[in-house]
Amino acid sequence: MPAKRCSRCQRIIGEGDLFYRLDIKVISGFDGIIKLGGHYDINAEIEKLKAYPEDLIEEEVYKEFHFILCPRCKEIYCSNPLHLGLDGEIPDHIPPVEDK
Ligand SMILES: [Zn+2]
Repeated sequence: MPAKRCSRCQRIIGEGDLFYRLDIKVISGFDGIIKLGGHYDINAEIEKLKAYPEDLIEEEVYKEFHFILCPRCKEIYCSNPLHLGLDGEIPDHIPPVEDK
């Protein structure tokens, strides 16, 4: 079996060494509301979509990433998974935008 490497720091992870799988799924959200502009031509939109390569359309809706992390890189990743500014406490979720 070929040696595993940490996807972040490239350290070799030997057989039996502790490592972590990082599986990220980015899925398009939908709140049930479709905003249409002033003039909306459904047929023109369908024709536009047919012109796009299928894999690009799929990536707009769903994308997966798979990584292997060594214990140190797992700690670094988990301490700030969204690379937010380090001027405060890191939240474990982002609150929804409030209406003004
Ligand atoms: Zn690492």
